[in-house]
Amino acid sequence: MFKKNLRSVIFASVIAVSLLLAGCSSEEATTPEDNEGLAITTSFSVLGDIINQITGDRGQVDYIVPVGEEPHEYEPTPGDFAKISDADVFYVNGLDLEEWLENVISNVSDTEIITLSDGVVGIPLVGDDEDDPHAWLSPKNVIIYVENLVADLVERDPEGEEIYRANADAYIDELKELDEWITEQITQIPEENRMIIVSENAFKYFGQDYGFETDGIWDINSLDEGTPQQYARLIDIVNERSVPALFVESTIDQRYMKTISNETGVAIAGEVYTDAVGAQGTDAKTYIGMMRENVKVFVEGLK
Ligand SMILES: [Zn+2]
Repeated sequence: MFKKNLRSVIFASVIAVSLLLAGCSSEEATTPEDNEGLAITTSFSVLGDIINQITGDRGQVDYIVPVGEEPHEYEPTPGDFAKISDADVFYVNGLDLEEWLENVISNVSDTEIITLSDGVVGIPLVGDDEDDPHAWLSPKNVIIYVENLVADLVERDPEGEEIYRANADAYIDELKELDEWITEQITQIPEENRMIIVSENAFKYFGQDYGFETDGIWDINSLDEGTPQQYARLIDIVNERSVPALFVESTIDQRYMKTISNETGVAIAGEVYTDAVGAQGTDAKTYIGMMRENVKVFVEGLK
């Protein structure tokens, strides 16, 4: 109830801000003609880093959902909306990750919304027609994101084409190296131990590409979190499968997985990054850094 009321208050404020902005947007908008690249906003920090790798010094990249928070059920503020309204383009993951934001924006902003996951082969959610949105957790998919991104950047800012393409080629090489490194690292994990259990079952794409089964207390954050049925189901699986380790996400309260750990006697082996990069100053502050940290934690816990 409270959440719903808050949402309508935010929505009303967002409309007010957008009307204010509409009056001055033509003077203030950054255009490619400024020769400074584009003003880019994206939905969450993982995409923020990936886009930054491609734009380099050209243009400015901002993201909406703060590091440490998850992007599924985030409540955008009027300030967030101004960031989107001021941008030349708003890049989103798609696959229904940012449904909340798209609904707001379609009503109040002209900023074009571009989906970076187009072309990814989706993995369905459990008991749902929708696909899981966490495609970025496999670097193979991020290569598709980068190709979509470059195609759009070049069209939007043709003067930056050479920079965008050179950065993208270099970054795709890094993603391929990451992919090879992951493949090599996971050979340390016995095949029967290749099972990733986190609070939100977000590693489906990673699991499919690198040969892990995955499960979670819940399938996606937009569902109820931590119901007795969800606990009972996962406790049974952990016990039956003799799972060697459990993991927690940087963006989810650890008490959920602690309940599973207490009930099964299986330890939580470490923290992983799914819906946000790590804090500034950590090795996980970039997408590639966070994926390397994830794989190190998986290998340590499961080998
Ligand atoms: Zn998630």
